[in-house]
Amino acid sequence: MKPAGKIRKILIANRGEIALRIQRAVRELGMQSVAVFASNDRLAPFVIHSDEAYLLDGVSTADTYLNIPRILSIAVESGVDAIHPGYGFLSENAEFAEAVAAAGLTFIGPRPDVLRQLGSKTSARELAGRANIPIVPGTVEPITDIQAAKAIAASIGFPILIKASGGGGGKGMRVASSPEEFENLVERASSEALKSFADARVYIEKFLIDPRHIEIQILADSADNVLHFGERECSIQRRHQKLIEECPSAILEPQLRQQMGEAAVRIARQCSYTGVGTVEFLLDKELNFYFLEVNTRIQVEHPITEMVYGIDLVKWQIEISGGKTIPFTQDSIKPVGHAIECRICAEDPENGFLPSTGDVLSYVPSEGPGIRNDSGITVGTKVTSSYDPLLAKLIAWDVDRTSAIARMTRALEDYHVAGVKTTIPFCLWTLAQPAFVGGSYDINFIQKFYKPSKSDPTDRTLSAAGIALALLEDSLHPSAVTDSNAAPTSSHWKNGPEGWRRR
Ligand code: ADP
Repeated sequence: MKPAGKIRKILIANRGEIALRIQRAVRELGMQSVAVFASNDRLAPFVIHSDEAYLLDGVSTADTYLNIPRILSIAVESGVDAIHPGYGFLSENAEFAEAVAAAGLTFIGPRPDVLRQLGSKTSARELAGRANIPIVPGTVEPITDIQAAKAIAASIGFPILIKASGGGGGKGMRVASSPEEFENLVERASSEALKSFADARVYIEKFLIDPRHIEIQILADSADNVLHFGERECSIQRRHQKLIEECPSAILEPQLRQQMGEAAVRIARQCSYTGVGTVEFLLDKELNFYFLEVNTRIQVEHPITEMVYGIDLVKWQIEISGGKTIPFTQDSIKPVGHAIECRICAEDPENGFLPSTGDVLSYVPSEGPGIRNDSGITVGTKVTSSYDPLLAKLIAWDVDRTSAIARMTRALEDYHVAGVKTTIPFCLWTLAQPAFVGGSYDINFIQKFYKPSKSDPTDRTLSAAGIALALLEDSLHPSAVTDSNAAPTSSHWKNGPEGWRRR
């Protein structure tokens, strides 16, 4: 490994909005950034703004963003000192972290042994148990004997959630509501886990009814300083994946925040964690919290913590990897105001949040006081199904929750993406719901309340924006339209979101 404090140039082994986000921190720290990119990303903002960029040959992610030998050879060739893995891809891959160290470079993240221990949900549960943190009732070992597992399930009580030990991204979970279907669902979960994670091991947890997903941000250095930066409420989810997050949670009182924060710090201390990390919990109706897992990397939703706590988590992640110690104390960390993040994904909310693909034809993100747009796209970006559908993250900060909701609503109304369907209409709808406004929602918010409808009032706003842009487009390209009442002459409009069709 390079000596601490010697990071001058960093390769970012990622793409999209997070590659750009990390690059900003790298450059603000006076360091140089190296991008690696697949050919379909060659015009992406994270490539254009990098100090140096190298092509990853090939089409599949195995050949490109997951290609460890190629990424390492670029790292050596470009003379970087460190590699930042972002989130997803290689970010929680212990072999990659080891290979980076073996190449004499710094991996910006926790040590490989920590990645291994926390990468498996079962060993993480075992670790949390040792740190005296309540875990969701269930097994801490993968299932080896189905009859024994069935007996444990019966003693915990159905419904039971069968989960992949190596799971992630909300994949590989099955709910068994009775002993009769248990065995069959274990088999199905296991074969799905094998396919998705190359690891067939599954375990069981009590399936909590209507919990909230609340997670704690931690920051730890190698001098034994471990701090927490409060919580993020991430209960607005589809397919067990987050869509809207807020900081702080509408229901956490200072005492519970402190208890959950201390539990998160304890688990970090238990494995001598370093860097940024997130300890995820489920909170039940009686406000009991249960450990879920640790994400050993920067999270998608980190900006809301940054806005409320006034910290740049990515810069600190880099500084800690370079050997810096944290100069502030837990007592000095104070939240100010309220922040909300809406994930702008290329998905069709009216059609089961299925991915939407196409070209970004026009793009006018929101601006204004208290607004942050962490985006990876530009006009011309081709949205394909090869990658995560996240296009951008819109973050709104204001002095309190009510004002933050109003600000986010305004910013979502102003946000314009044409060419693919997005989650914007869904986010607008959510922000107006009494359950959201009242802060009384849980992880089943979508199933309980969301009934997609073409006559959703938010469509009107989008239509107005769409028409304005269509007119502008016409004035820029008058030849595209010969008769304003005629059918669209340009076929790409047909794929545009509601309100984008020129009629
Ligand atoms: P992944 O790593 O695949 O994202 P998690 O364990 O983090 O899986 O869980 C993702 C989501 O699944 C949670 O935020 C929650 O909505 C739901 N979930 C997970 N475990 C339980 C449980 N025991 N009971 C009810 N819901 C759960």
